[in-house]
Amino acid sequence: MAQRSIERGRRQVPLPNWLAGRLGVGRAVLHTPDDPAEDRALIARSLAFLFLAGATLSVVWLMLPHEQRTEDPGVIAMTAGAYAVGLLLFFGFDHLPQWVLKGSVTAATVVITGAIFSNHENGSVYVFFYLWATVYAFSYFTLRQALLQTAFVGVAFGAVLFIQRDVWQEEWARWLMVIGSTMAAGLLVRFLTGTLRHRSLHDPLTGLANRTLYLKKLDEALAVTDEDERPPSVAVLFLDLDGFKYVNDSLGHHVGDGLLTAVGDRLRATARPDDLTARFGGDEFALLCRDVDDEADALSIGQRINEALTEGFQVGDHELHISASVGVSISGTGGCDSGTLLRDADAAMYAAKARGRARCELFGDSLRQKMVERLEIENELRPALERDQFEIHYQPIVTLEDRHIVGVEALVRWRHPVRGLISPGDFIPIAEDTGLIVPIGRMVLYRACVQLAAWDASGGPLAGISLSVNLSARQLPHGELLANLDTALARARIAPDRLTLELTESILMDEESGPAETLAALRRRGVRLSLDDFGTGYSSLSYLQRFALDELKLDRSFVSGLGHGGSEDAITGAVLALAGALGVPVVAEGIEHEHQAQTLRRLGAQHGQGYLFARPALPDELERSLGGQPEMRLLAS
Ligand code: C2E
Ligand code: MG
Ligand code: MG
Repeated sequence: MAQRSIERGRRQVPLPNWLAGRLGVGRAVLHTPDDPAEDRALIARSLAFLFLAGATLSVVWLMLPHEQRTEDPGVIAMTAGAYAVGLLLFFGFDHLPQWVLKGSVTAATVVITGAIFSNHENGSVYVFFYLWATVYAFSYFTLRQALLQTAFVGVAFGAVLFIQRDVWQEEWARWLMVIGSTMAAGLLVRFLTGTLRHRSLHDPLTGLANRTLYLKKLDEALAVTDEDERPPSVAVLFLDLDGFKYVNDSLGHHVGDGLLTAVGDRLRATARPDDLTARFGGDEFALLCRDVDDEADALSIGQRINEALTEGFQVGDHELHISASVGVSISGTGGCDSGTLLRDADAAMYAAKARGRARCELFGDSLRQKMVERLEIENELRPALERDQFEIHYQPIVTLEDRHIVGVEALVRWRHPVRGLISPGDFIPIAEDTGLIVPIGRMVLYRACVQLAAWDASGGPLAGISLSVNLSARQLPHGELLANLDTALARARIAPDRLTLELTESILMDEESGPAETLAALRRRGVRLSLDDFGTGYSSLSYLQRFALDELKLDRSFVSGLGHGGSEDAITGAVLALAGALGVPVVAEGIEHEHQAQTLRRLGAQHGQGYLFARPALPDELERSLGGQPEMRLLAS
């Protein structure tokens, strides 16, 4: 089915492939110009070339030893005019208003017709003017106007040929040929214009509308008001396929393209006949629905799409399953423009992704509120860094055997003057987006190292423990990281092997950021590396070996399901056994209950971290909670 669709996509350009490629239309060119003006300019340039070539030919013709032709100042003026207009078109097309261009065509046609009627003998220049005018008219006038113009001049020719048949005699056949070939050229240019315009407004792979056409139609739909001048009710549905990248990466772009085409077909079939289906690029699609009753109506369209996609896709030999996260925004509350609608649908789509994918979310009040909050956090983050509003809490990591503290994980918090303590989950992703994670991460690393040195110096219960610090993807490609690390370790006088940097799977998977090089440099310094949140991502143990990691942190999601006699125990047991076989020690995160700690210990985990032992706390609170057994480093329970 998908293969057929691809074929159909190819057939949208009714030209053989070799010609389409040469002309720059159709599948041979995969990029799509965003602006139809590009096509206009392209055609105008070819016309200008045509016109200049025509004028050159007419000069040659004028110079031939014909009766008095070279001496005719009118003809010379015309030829010079032809050059001037050609150059004007060539260089000035982008800047000249449409009416000047159309006006010049009309003027040229009138001049030629007048000249023919006055039976001017030196017809060549006029023929070329005519050639230009006609081809031009076919490109930029409506088909009716262009045909009318051709007919108009054709009738003039006919009349002259008839009245002056003695003078024209052998010439008439040549003139008729000129008229015929000019019309053919005009029609060809018109066809190419249509193809180019179609290409500039459609996605070459799926044949769906592209973003430019979608925006145009959305603007048009929003401009229409009903008899009571009420604003239109338009819904924008924005779709992003879940996990499409994996299809592309694992099965190749050819299969990826086939899947996109099949999804495009499915969407078109699911949408109502009046809806516009578009592909914005990559795995992003959009639907434009007019006459939507209310939010529930819009949501039901989104849900219908989700349902339609649950049925698998046959792409070549592969049976593929894919879902989409759909974001919906609707107009109707007034003051809605296309940009806002799209932005809101985009935000709703991200919310759908965050809430587990394969679902549809509406951009409503709560999402709007969240976006406002996000924007506030974004704006306040930098000043917060300057005003030193961040603090670092430390959560102990203990041995499951006898609950000794072997280390702490540094966890950053934002002490907001109004909102109180903000947890990292609420600002780290924003800091990552804005790049502020780099200075924040630098600060955390430095302060945590200094704190570790202070515990060492105090000779208290926490002297000699190890320190774990989280690292974001954004910090990794930064050359600064290594320098910061060296500075922090040197200033705090800490041996590198007492520091563990926690990385998530997504960092390791991101080949582009080149983690391997930085990780190798970190390892050379003797710093330990840990795989954080194992079980939330791909859960591939291969990273442990590939990057020679020193530790695995089993995510809370693994731990929370333990001890109910379900399959979780078996899966966790298998992961722990594999890690054990690879010689990589495991820290189990988020242990809240005694039975979890017992089970994990039985299954072979060495270390644990969680509320059962201690919550993250400021250094002095942590020291206080250890008050009872300083030497043993045991937590007071
Ligand atoms: P993480 O690295 O997986 O840290 C463990 C998270 O689990 C912490 O959340 C911790 O408070 C929480 N936790 C520990 N024990 C339990 C438990 O028994 N039950 C439950 N429900 N939760 C427990 P926190 O502090 O909110 O941090 C969230 C995430 O923010 C961290 O996950 C880490 O990925 C990120 N993060 C924190 N500090 C930093 C930092 O300095 N830099 C970077 N890049 N990320 C950080
Ligand atoms: Mg961590
Ligand atoms: Mg974790």
